Amino acid sequence: LRRFFDPLQDVAMFYNSYQSATAALEKLSGVLEERPTVAEPADPVPLPAPRGELRFDGVRFGYTDRTVLPGLDLEIPAGQTVALVGATGAGKSTLARLAARFYDPLEGEVRLDGVPLASLRDSDLRRALVMVTQESFLFTGTIAENIAFGRPGATPSEIEAAARAIGAHEFIAALPEGYDTDVHKRGGRLSAGQRQLVSFARAFLADPAVLILDEATSSLDVPSERLVQHALRTLLADRTALIIAHRLSTVEIADRVLVMEDGEIVEDGSPADLVGGTGRFAGLHRAWADSLV
Ligand code: ADP
Repeated sequence: LRRFFDPLQDVAMFYNSYQSATAALEKLSGVLEERPTVAEPADPVPLPAPRGELRFDGVRFGYTDRTVLPGLDLEIPAGQTVALVGATGAGKSTLARLAARFYDPLEGEVRLDGVPLASLRDSDLRRALVMVTQESFLFTGTIAENIAFGRPGATPSEIEAAARAIGAHEFIAALPEGYDTDVHKRGGRLSAGQRQLVSFARAFLADPAVLILDEATSSLDVPSERLVQHALRTLLADRTALIIAHRLSTVEIADRVLVMEDGEIVEDGSPADLVGGTGRFAGLHRAWADSLV
């Protein structure tokens, strides 16, 4: 009798994991549903070993008739950590979405290692570039499955190695069911900081040449903040990163800060240069520092 029912159970399990994977895909990128505009290239350019040089050449973009980015030129060398700052509505997320090819520019070109994003196969682009959005979203399943989502087929030891590198192993191992903890049931019990660490471990395991991070705005207690910042440094090493930064501590570890206003980059420099200047970032930095006192 058991044998008879097993196939049905398999179907049920497949259905469940299919559902959670689909939901996760939708949630992982947050704006995935907004991606109908991009098409697969007819004649794709292969990208076997992405270096992670990102470049915007005269990029104009708007969601509607209204132009959001009038004409963006930007060159990010491979390996650089760039913090994007600016008021709400300045265009930070739009820039990030174009870099991840959620949309194609109306004019101009976004290139990865010199290749227009529109010439890359979607699967190649997804391997080269990972976007981690605000909500460190965990889908139904275990912590191990959530981390493995970064690299399907990852072994338990690879999953643990990623968690260790990010500094998540300790808290995971301390849970009664460890890596097999169901995050859906336990979700409420993982702190915001812990959820971020799991999503960082997922990105670390995926090991993309380019990481785009929309930093969570939710404030963390001091020990969690320290853990997350440490994890972030690990995650940023040896890859290009574009971070929509909400924390002063994040801006301070960037190689370069871009201040955006009305769809344009109005300041561009190292954090030290900009803090010492008289521009917008210097003012923003003072306000930030005051709020931390
Ligand atoms: P930021 O990330 O700096 O807050 P955004 O890139 O989200 O800025 O927004 C830039 C401008 O684009 C804003 O005026 C915003 O209202 C508009 N915008 C953002 N997303 C959409 C969208 N999906 N549809 C239409 N307009 C949008």
